[in-house]
Amino acid sequence: MFKFPIRRWPEPWRMLLVMLAVLLPAAALIAVNFRLLRSTQREKAIEAVYQRDYQNVLAIAEKRIASHAYDVVEDDKAALPERPCAEDLRAFLAAHPDVAHAFVWTSKNKLVLESQPARMNDPHFAQERMNFFSMVNGWFEGESSDFFIKLKKMAKTEGHATVFEQNWVLRGDKWEYQSIALFIPRGSTAEQPELAGFVYDTDYLRDKFFPPILNAVCPYQRSGNSPESQAAIMVRTAKSPTLLAASSAWDGGNAEVERKFEGVFSGLVLGMKFRGTTIASISNKFLRTEFLVLGTLSLLLAIGMFFTYRNVTRELALAKLKSDFVSNVSHELRTPLALIRLYAETLELGRIATPAKQHEYHEIIRKESERLSGLINNILDFSRIEAGRKEYNFRETDVADLVRSTLESYRYEIEQNGFQFEQKIDDNLPQLRVDREAIARSLLNLVNNAVKYSATEKYLRVCLYRNNGSVNLEVIDHGIGIPDGEQPKIFEKFYRVGDPLVHNTKGSGLGLSLVRHIVRAHNGDVTVESTPGKGSKFVIALPVQDSQQQEASGASA
Ligand code: ADP
Repeated sequence: MFKFPIRRWPEPWRMLLVMLAVLLPAAALIAVNFRLLRSTQREKAIEAVYQRDYQNVLAIAEKRIASHAYDVVEDDKAALPERPCAEDLRAFLAAHPDVAHAFVWTSKNKLVLESQPARMNDPHFAQERMNFFSMVNGWFEGESSDFFIKLKKMAKTEGHATVFEQNWVLRGDKWEYQSIALFIPRGSTAEQPELAGFVYDTDYLRDKFFPPILNAVCPYQRSGNSPESQAAIMVRTAKSPTLLAASSAWDGGNAEVERKFEGVFSGLVLGMKFRGTTIASISNKFLRTEFLVLGTLSLLLAIGMFFTYRNVTRELALAKLKSDFVSNVSHELRTPLALIRLYAETLELGRIATPAKQHEYHEIIRKESERLSGLINNILDFSRIEAGRKEYNFRETDVADLVRSTLESYRYEIEQNGFQFEQKIDDNLPQLRVDREAIARSLLNLVNNAVKYSATEKYLRVCLYRNNGSVNLEVIDHGIGIPDGEQPKIFEKFYRVGDPLVHNTKGSGLGLSLVRHIVRAHNGDVTVESTPGKGSKFVIALPVQDSQQQEASGASA
């Protein structure tokens, strides 16, 4: 069976790929939204939507106002007797004070016009009546049959037979609006056609007709809405920007969107706005919120990207350290093994004549196997720590004695390597609860490093002394030193200063990370002071502390 070769990406790259698969589309989505919002802002799209919405509201309001106007006229028409005469008109006006003038164009082509008797004392009104009479007379003399035919047709097609006309009267320096409702009175026939009409004055429209109907047609008035989010509608005449009437939510100012009345009330203009706000500020608020949300999202995304980047670079560095570790350790293992084998074989052949030479070879084999077991112990300890299985065996210990005996077994080798070795261990140090083996291994790791990383000046000093609440163990060398920037990193696992491939001194990069782990398990700390070219000082501080506390921390290590 054919198998497709599956290419496995290294772990950090896979992680990066997954993160990018999530982050990139999210970033693209945010970018697209930003562009969209910018163009919405540029093209004032939100304002346009609101204006369209207001226009729709006004169109519906106009229809409802017109229908109400027809209802009012129908009621008034019903109160007029068949083929009304002047007497009937006067009686009608007495009962309907809202109608300023009522008139009939009789079948004998004569205009009968009556006006509100109570207002006839007003000379302006009397003058208006005369003007109106001559105007309507003029109309009907020429166009009465056209009106009659139009109204008949309307009755058939629209169900109501009323035509509204606008009339303007000058009162003082102001043009006032009047609405004329023209209709065919009951009793009128094709043989004896008659026309009639009512004139609704501006006062009636302003005070009685418009206020309640404007409130009724005003949208968004649910009880839950705050006064600020209420819509308000107003009416004005086309000749003046000042208000004729408005719904109760109107809070002054100009309308945001207007619409001219057509048919009924032509000559008037309907307007709408929101109380306490404008379309521009609604749109600005919306855009601001959206930009803020997108901005926050972008920030979160940037933070996400930053952490992803940091994580991946760390993982990559760790992956590199791991691969260096494998090559270092295999070299570290191979060298002592090869030496042990070489010297053991030479001894086996029995060709070494002098006992001194034989002793030297045995010595080399012992030292190399010690180095080997030190390295293997480090690796085993490390793997236990990584698996969370490292256990410490804390015992009341004379640390001075522990340090002395550990150094003693190493002293010969140190001096053999040409080191000037000093040791200063204070008397009367307190007993500490420590894991003997672990502390000895930490000390050996530090001493080993001091020996490994001392090139020209071979000096080693180990001190043990009391320092306030702790006992300090210092290992000082005059070796190659560690640059400032590297000092915090040397305690990380696998970390080695410089490029390990060109490193002269072999190592695993595990020693100091083990030391730190061990010391922390003792509630202590390890620090370094170092100057490149001058040498280093490593200090392990072990607290003199309550034994129970130490037991607890050791168990969790
Ligand atoms: P290694 O097996 O490489 O010695 P360690 O964890 O013991 O691993 O040390 C980490 C790194 O710290 C070393 O590779 C070395 O670069 C640096 N280092 C440790 N001790 C010393 C020292 N005494 N002088 C100079 N550099 C040191």
